[in-house]
Amino acid sequence: MAAVFAHHKQASRAVPRWLGLAAALGLAALGLACWQAGAVRQTPPAFVAPLLVLLLAGLCLCLLGLWHAWQRKLAAAQSYRQGVQQILTEAIEAMPAGFELWDKHDHLVICNQRLREQYPSLADLLVPGVPLHKVLEHALQNGAIPGAIGNETRWLEQRLARRGHQQQPVVEEYGGRWTHIHERRTPSGFTVGIRLDVSELILTQQALAEAKAQAQHDRQLLERAIDAMPAGIEIYDEHERLVMANQRLADWQPRLQQAGTPRLAPTAQQADSQDRTQLSQLPDGLWLKTSQTRTPEGFVLTVHQDVSDLVHQEQALKASQAQLQAIIGTAGVSIITIDGSGIILSCNLAVERLFGYSRGEMLGHNVSMLMLDKERLAHDEYLLRFARGQGGRLMNQPRELQARHRSGMTLTVQLAVTEVPEQQERLFVGVISDLTDRKQFEQELQRVNEQLLRLSTTDSLTELANRRLLMQRLEEEWRRGLRSHQSLALLLIDVDYFKLYNDHYGHQAGDSCLLTVAQVLRNAANRPGDLVARYGGEEFVVLLAQTDEAGMQAVAARLRELLAAAAIEHKGSPLRPSVTVSIGMCSCPPTPGTFASQWLAQADRALYQAKALGRDRAVSALELLPE
Ligand code: GH3
Ligand code: MG
Ligand code: MG
Repeated sequence: MAAVFAHHKQASRAVPRWLGLAAALGLAALGLACWQAGAVRQTPPAFVAPLLVLLLAGLCLCLLGLWHAWQRKLAAAQSYRQGVQQILTEAIEAMPAGFELWDKHDHLVICNQRLREQYPSLADLLVPGVPLHKVLEHALQNGAIPGAIGNETRWLEQRLARRGHQQQPVVEEYGGRWTHIHERRTPSGFTVGIRLDVSELILTQQALAEAKAQAQHDRQLLERAIDAMPAGIEIYDEHERLVMANQRLADWQPRLQQAGTPRLAPTAQQADSQDRTQLSQLPDGLWLKTSQTRTPEGFVLTVHQDVSDLVHQEQALKASQAQLQAIIGTAGVSIITIDGSGIILSCNLAVERLFGYSRGEMLGHNVSMLMLDKERLAHDEYLLRFARGQGGRLMNQPRELQARHRSGMTLTVQLAVTEVPEQQERLFVGVISDLTDRKQFEQELQRVNEQLLRLSTTDSLTELANRRLLMQRLEEEWRRGLRSHQSLALLLIDVDYFKLYNDHYGHQAGDSCLLTVAQVLRNAANRPGDLVARYGGEEFVVLLAQTDEAGMQAVAARLRELLAAAAIEHKGSPLRPSVTVSIGMCSCPPTPGTFASQWLAQADRALYQAKALGRDRAVSALELLPE
């Protein structure tokens, strides 16, 4: 465009204006001189004619120059117009949008190639001079305008009616492409149209709308999911505005406010992204654990969880732990906990009592301080083997070992060790029982039992076997005799006139007399298999195993001799002034079908016989008269 203007100015400067002006002035001066000469009736000088010719020639030359200048100017203007037209055409072609210019009768004046590209099916029609309705009718016939299909006539009427009156741009679909159309009527009645292909934009908008709908759907889904969660959830943005809260939180909110539960809502000071957790209880007993997390975007997520069950379980656990501690603390047995290297971690009161150390003196020290030197080495080796996985033989099995009291005294204890599963390290719990007390108790029990047994089978006065033991031994010997067919002998001994003895010497002296008689009987039957028993009152039994009639007679004789030798004074006796006894005796091998009681009855009859015959004698059952 600048080149066009420059050419035009150059042409203007080429006109020789000064020459015309000089010729005109010369003619004017000459005319004036001639008019003055005429006025004074003088003849013009002779140089006037050639000067006049010269001036006319100059004027003609000037006019010729002006004509040439006008011609050049015209050519320059023509060139300028063509240049402008070409630039405008290039500009129109260079537009990224379709361009169209229609005259006042809606005949196409000009359009660019871009417009033809936008409407390829109409490209051949879009030539200058084509009427608009012809172009539109062609498009409708091809069905290229989806919005007009089935309604082509009316659509065409409306489209032409709003031609030039449409202030706002419209978006039309043509051939599957979307076009943004600006139409303006110029003051001269022409219509200028700019058609911009906005298909990409429309597709992007559609994709955006779909994405928005999807995001909306996702948000609804998220809200439903959050509502369905078993926790109260609230989300705040970076300006502490509530973005979202679920239904459960709404249910808890009045109770949260009633309980005065401190809000964990984000604060400006809480710039860090560390999580915060807090436990609180609502008036109805519900335990809530509130935790807060700040997202990288600056949003704060607050979650309230109902942890009542967990809290109750923890409380129960604490209670049972406290009970356990109380039980361990007051337990009679010593309980000690050590780590994998034998260091004492805890111990109860019984350990302090057993070993004589205070808890402070034991905690943190090796458990070997409670052992004898010979046990220490074995213990260290045992722990080492166990750590390598080679031990464990003694685990959970009580064993006796020697321990050391603080005073140096040796203790005999029973130790049972259990490994307690711990995540970080191995812990061992040892239960120690003091066997000294138990052993003493066992010995005492044994002694009492023996005493009880002795008392239950011994006569308290004479310390001979009592009637219970006698009958037991009698049955045993009877069965043995049945098996061995060996003879058994039994002597039933009764002190003569003992009532008179008591009457004469008193009851205590009577007891002493019975003691002496018992001793005599012991001396008379002193073989290991012999049994001397007090049968009752002043009656005694001597049971002789594997003894026949002769042996029995011999024992009876020796017995009477020893008694005579003892010479226990009995002044009240009608027989003699010393104690005598009557003996009924019986000997035989036990036979099947007979019983010990029958045998005893035989001896009793023999005794009765001895009494009847005058006392102070021994009568065998063999001597009994038949009844
Ligand atoms: P017999 O010669 O007929 O046997 O006459 P006896 O007096 O010995 O017989 P009896 O059955 O009449 O009396 C027995 C007496 O023995 C009666 C009782 O006072 C006495 N007696 C029984 N047991 C004991 C005892 O444990 N201690 C004392 N001191 N006397 C006893
Ligand atoms: Mg008697
Ligand atoms: Mg008697």
